[in-house]
Amino acid sequence: MVDSEIREDAAEPVHVRAPGKINLVLRVGATAPGGYHRLATVFQAVSLTEDVSATPAEGISVHTTGRWAHLVQDDETNLAHQAATLLADTCGITRGVQLDVVKNVPVAGGMAGGSADAAGALLACDLLWRTGLSREELVELAAGLGADVPFALTGGTALGAGSGGELTPALARGMHYWVLAMSEQGVSTPEAFAAWDRNNPDPPEHPAVPDDVMTALISGDPYALAKVLVNDLSEPALELFSGLDAVLEAFTGTAALATMVSGSGPTVAALAPDHPAALDIAESVRAAGVADEVAVVSGPAPGARLLESVHEEEV
Ligand code: ATP
Repeated sequence: MVDSEIREDAAEPVHVRAPGKINLVLRVGATAPGGYHRLATVFQAVSLTEDVSATPAEGISVHTTGRWAHLVQDDETNLAHQAATLLADTCGITRGVQLDVVKNVPVAGGMAGGSADAAGALLACDLLWRTGLSREELVELAAGLGADVPFALTGGTALGAGSGGELTPALARGMHYWVLAMSEQGVSTPEAFAAWDRNNPDPPEHPAVPDDVMTALISGDPYALAKVLVNDLSEPALELFSGLDAVLEAFTGTAALATMVSGSGPTVAALAPDHPAALDIAESVRAAGVADEVAVVSGPAPGARLLESVHEEEV
């Protein structure tokens, strides 16, 4: 690359947006040889997103702002930092980057916010450094950073097998509206799996997504989808997070069609019949005062993507 191109790079930070996710289905199975639990899951990316900007700099650094920034460390343990380092090492890049992350997805909330930061950083650095990697190569690198990172790159609605990272896009119609009740205090994913192990001494070898889930997704009907939502990690999350009962309780008597814990919790996701109903549900749950943050989001949302500018409107 010639000097003038490097200077052109330097003037143009890259802005990327990556989605958080909820699990519409999460079935847990036996532990596979790599130490991971075999999962059968359906991910849906939602419009609660992380914005990652990459600016040329000396060395690699991360600076996080936004609602949940006080809960993450801006050092080399940060998944965005790890993503940039992995990409630089893989492609022999010696230039640095400053990553600015706006954190809207809760930390250790069961919404894979850290994975979204990793996916966002991977894509932003890939575009900044013009590595020439294919989409498939980027997804492969993403898998090395964590089981949920490939999905944050691809987005939409997808089935996840293996430890969650073996993805198949799902045929899903329509847009769904969710009310999220979020918490400052997280649930550790390894602890949730350990609690599940204690309660399930004879786990299924090959967990599966039930067929009626695929039918409900194709129909696009929130009433049909509400009937098939299932999460095996709800019980462990209830065990590990004492306030969770009260959060779930706050949705009773509202128009919510179904309420579920997202991933390993403690975020609670409630499916609304439509957008106006979602706004009403959110109002009631806010008034109950049991969650630190309540938001209305839609899904499916796109995977990590380039924004034209940091000021681009919410979709
Ligand atoms: P999942 O649903 O994939 O299990 P989660 O939403 O429960 O994930 P995350 O917020 O993605 O949890 O991250 C879990 C842990 O990863 C945090 O407790 C934190 O220690 C570590 N971590 C590293 N980098 C980040 C980051 N950029 N954002 C959030 N957590 C991070």
